[in-house]
Amino acid sequence: MNTRIITIDGPAGAGKTTVSMLLSQKLGCIYVDTGALYRGVAFEILRQNINWENDDILEGLLKKLDLNFVMEENRLVLMSSGRDISGYIRTPEISMLASSSSAKLQVRSALLDIQRNIARTKDAVFEGRDMGTVVFPEASYKFFLYADLNIRAKRRFDEMQEETKDLSRVQKDMEIRDNKDSKRMSAPLKPAEDAIKINSTFLTVEQVVEKMLEYIEKA
Ligand code: C5P
Repeated sequence: MNTRIITIDGPAGAGKTTVSMLLSQKLGCIYVDTGALYRGVAFEILRQNINWENDDILEGLLKKLDLNFVMEENRLVLMSSGRDISGYIRTPEISMLASSSSAKLQVRSALLDIQRNIARTKDAVFEGRDMGTVVFPEASYKFFLYADLNIRAKRRFDEMQEETKDLSRVQKDMEIRDNKDSKRMSAPLKPAEDAIKINSTFLTVEQVVEKMLEYIEKA
């Protein structure tokens, strides 16, 4: 790989997205939210109303899957078959279905090339669950960002726009998703052996990014 790739893995709500955006701005590179791809698959499963647990049916969907990112004012927008679906993939239903369906090996391998192709030509900060362990084992810098569950749930709750939001539900859903993501057989959520672990429980986004930049500049 001739490009500079920085990976940020960690559980939901640890601050990966805001940190990745700020870090990529400071480094003058792009930022890729790989969770959006898994959400894109979940979006298509719901839209096509298919039984994704059946491997043949899932295979059919993945064969026709046409997900890609387009650059819009320095931000990557997720397109599915030419349509911008960014506004539809952040619901609790999609979060949970993305987590369940991402445990399927077929789904993971269908998305692998999309991620690696972006990295071939552009310096980037990649955010996800298996960036440092599976997708980019040769990354230039690897970080694993985590925080206490109650803080992560509170952060996610504060971001939500829904009037009927419920903090204990958000925390429960997050716990279920963390469990699924960490316990699955393929590409489970875990720090790469050479990842730098950062606990963001008591840190601001700026402080986390500062720590990352210290490591990057030191290396
Ligand atoms: O990061 P985000 O919460 O948007 O990811 C949604 C789901 O997609 C995660 O719960 C996880 O199951 C899956 N995912 C994954 N591998 C990645 C990124 C996300 O399995 N690299």
